[in-house]
Amino acid sequence: MAKYENLIPRFLKYVKINTRSTPNSTTIPSNERLTKFAEGLVEDLKAIGLTNVHINAQSSYVYATLPANTDKAVKKLGFISHFDTADFNSENINPQFVENYDGQSVIKLDDAGKYTLDPAVFPNLKNYQGDTLITTDGSTLLGADDKSGVAEIMAAAEYLLAHPEIKHGEIEIGLGPDEEIGTGADHFDVKDFGADIAYTVDGGPLGQLEYETFNAADAQVEITGTNVHPAEAKGVMVNASQVAMDFHAALPEHDRPENTEGREGFFHLYSMNGTVDSAHLSYIIRDHDRQIFEDRKKLFQGVADQLNKQYGSQRVDVTIKDQYYNMREVIEKDMTVVDLAKQALEDLDIKPLIFPVRGGTDGSKISFMGLPTPNLFAGGENMHGRFEYVSEQTMEKATDVIIKIAELAEQQA
Ligand SMILES: [Zn+2]
Repeated sequence: MAKYENLIPRFLKYVKINTRSTPNSTTIPSNERLTKFAEGLVEDLKAIGLTNVHINAQSSYVYATLPANTDKAVKKLGFISHFDTADFNSENINPQFVENYDGQSVIKLDDAGKYTLDPAVFPNLKNYQGDTLITTDGSTLLGADDKSGVAEIMAAAEYLLAHPEIKHGEIEIGLGPDEEIGTGADHFDVKDFGADIAYTVDGGPLGQLEYETFNAADAQVEITGTNVHPAEAKGVMVNASQVAMDFHAALPEHDRPENTEGREGFFHLYSMNGTVDSAHLSYIIRDHDRQIFEDRKKLFQGVADQLNKQYGSQRVDVTIKDQYYNMREVIEKDMTVVDLAKQALEDLDIKPLIFPVRGGTDGSKISFMGLPTPNLFAGGENMHGRFEYVSEQTMEKATDVIIKIAELAEQQA
C-alpha cells in the first residue's frame, strides 16, 4: 500500500474539477467555480481532522490548522498552494497513467497520437525512469499546477495526524484561488493565517527550492501624434507610430527576454498598436537587483522625457506600476526558513535545485507582507498546457519534505 493512501486519489478527484480562473475578473475569487471548489475543500479538510477550517473573507483562501503535539515553542509553519488552474482548456480533464515509465519512450497523449510527450522535445522525461507518470489526454491541461501542492499538503497533514510519534509545532494550511491571474496573493491575510514562516508548495521538479524572484513592474506608454494629410505633412505631422518605434529603439537592445538569462533583467514589449494619431506600447520591466530595477524604471522614464524634449511638447506619457519585489530582500534577514528546507532535502537524499526565479511566486507578495515564504517543489512539469505531467513518486517525495520540515522545526526549537 502506498505510504500516503489518499495522496493520488485526492489529486485525481481535484484535477477532474474545472477550476480555471478568470483573467480580468473584478470579483474575489474570480468566478463561482472557485467558490464551489473552496467549499468542497473545507469539507475535506474538516474530514481529515484539521481545526479552525474556514474561508478567509478577505482573500477567499481556505485556511486550516494542524494543532501542535508538543509543548516546545516551535515556530509556526505555514504551507500554501493554489487550486485555480491556468488559462487553458480545463473542461473534462481526463488523467492518463504511464506506469513504470522507461525514461525514453514517446508517450501518446490522445489515441490518434496527435500530441505526444517526446524526450527529444521534453528532456526532463529522462529523469522519470521507473516512475508512474500522470498525463493529460492531450485536450486539456492537467492542473498539477497546483493541485499537486494541495494534495501533498493535505496528505502530509493527514499523515502527521495518524502518526503522533512525530512531534511538530502548530501548522497552518492556506489553499487559495487566482494565483494564475496574478491576484490571488494580493489579499492574503497574514494575521488570520498565523504562521511565523511559510512555504508555497508550487514549484516544479524534484528538489526545487526558490527564494529569489524578480522585482517586477508593468509599464504603459501612451503616445499622442499630430495627424495631417501626408501631402502637407512637412514640419507638421508627428507620427505616433514612428515615435513609438523611436521609443523602443532607445531602450537597451540586449536587455530583452530573448537575450537574457540567470540574474539578467530586461524590458519586455508585450503588446503594441498604433496609428498616426496615437500609439500604445505595453512593457514589463524585470530585474533581480532592486537598485538596477529602480535604475531601469528611471531609464524608461528618461527615454520619454528625452522624446518630449525633442518634440517640444508632451507626446509620450509613461505609467509605471510596481507589481512585486524580490523576496530575497525579506528572507535573507533570517535564513531559517531556507535552511530548514535545505536540511529537509538533504536528510531525504534529495538534491536541492536552487536557482533565481525569472518570475514571481505568490510568496514574493506574501514575504513583503511580513511572512517569509519561499517556494518548494510540488512536482509538476510543462505547466499551463496539454503537455503537463507529474510523477507520483515526486508527489510522494514532496509530501515527505513537508513532513520532514515540520519534524526539523520541532527538533531545532
Ligand atoms: Zn502554480
